[in-house]
Amino acid sequence: MEESAFFPRRASTAVDVAGVLVGGGRPIVVQSMTNTDTADPDATAIQIARLANAGSELVRITVNTEAAAAAVPTIAQKVAGLGVSVPIVGDFHYNGHKLLADYPETARTLAKYRINPGNVGPGRHHDDHFTAIVRIAIENEKPVRIGVNWGSLDKDVLAELMDANARLESPRDAREVMIDAMVESAIRSAELAEATGLGHDRIILSAKVSGVRDLVEVYRRLAVRGDYALHLGLTEAGMGMKGTVASTAGLALLLAEGIGDTIRVSITPEPGGDRTEEVAVAQQVLQSLGLRSFLPQVSSCPGCGRTTSTYFQELARDIQIYIRDRMPVWREHYRGVEEMRVAVMGCVVNGPGESKHADIGISLPGTFEDPVAPVFVDGALSLTLRGDHIATEFQEILERYVAQRYAAPAGAAR
Ligand code: SF4
Repeated sequence: MEESAFFPRRASTAVDVAGVLVGGGRPIVVQSMTNTDTADPDATAIQIARLANAGSELVRITVNTEAAAAAVPTIAQKVAGLGVSVPIVGDFHYNGHKLLADYPETARTLAKYRINPGNVGPGRHHDDHFTAIVRIAIENEKPVRIGVNWGSLDKDVLAELMDANARLESPRDAREVMIDAMVESAIRSAELAEATGLGHDRIILSAKVSGVRDLVEVYRRLAVRGDYALHLGLTEAGMGMKGTVASTAGLALLLAEGIGDTIRVSITPEPGGDRTEEVAVAQQVLQSLGLRSFLPQVSSCPGCGRTTSTYFQELARDIQIYIRDRMPVWREHYRGVEEMRVAVMGCVVNGPGESKHADIGISLPGTFEDPVAPVFVDGALSLTLRGDHIATEFQEILERYVAQRYAAPAGAAR
């Protein structure tokens, strides 16, 4: 999908993460993070593959112990053995300088290192540990993400700004100073990385907080402090609907201002839940904003007193599932199918109108209407379904439509 004219993107320097370009006006990259024990190569490789198959274009793993660091090359081999190719990013805190030095194969294998400047070491160790990681990145020609998080904000930077604020005639409130400290921590760390020799085009910045308004404020301030590519995400977003809605609200506000080159949705899964949910939400945010296309979109009305049976909800759900299940095959054979718009509507009030706006749509009979379901194709009434097999027949029509509309011209390369 072309860049939307509604969201002119902030200019940023492109960063090459093992072939995935982040920033520089490239499509906004979806990324995710595993929650397996990295020291368990099988479980971690399987989850990386699942996240990548769900559409994650970068996958981050924590590298927190010697066992985890030692497992990274094996994980990468196992992921490749599963037929999956995705850059694997290492997340480092406290001991990253040591692990990367002690496990050079891991340093070579990872596509990018995430450094949290609030967690690299206290006081005089801070800059030594930080620059040690940066030097390893330089040696291995890797980019880094300098990822500030308000839960682990660099205490020295915060204290310095708090002290300066206290000396003001009219001190600002602590929230304002905290936001400035996050931006300052990210920018100063980037400057230190560059002074150490890391290329400007090997640095991505993030500054994550858990409140939507704070997130927007932090990134607005960060965005005007340079052209570093920015990784967006609401940290500790929470579970279920709260996490999804809060993440969407924060990301959408910033993306609408053209801020953000890569996103992650940090929702807490249910125990034993599906980690790929965060990828689906991130994709849906981008697709809802018209920034990228991943999956045909199904418009369905909410239903009302005119849809008193569950038939309409079942059909809307079944079509959604059908499309999701068919996408791996469709994506392979039908270029552009991810931009298809499908409508499944509950009655005659808005059904025909909405269906005409879609590429293909069906308007089901509401309560007391004739038991017929007109199908609209490319804005025109195509045929009318009736009887007990409307759902199956509509799926067959959909399948034929996809084959006709999105088939590549003869000889076109795939
Ligand atoms: S389209 Fe019909 S069934 Fe759906 S919400 Fe509107 S009036 Fe209700």
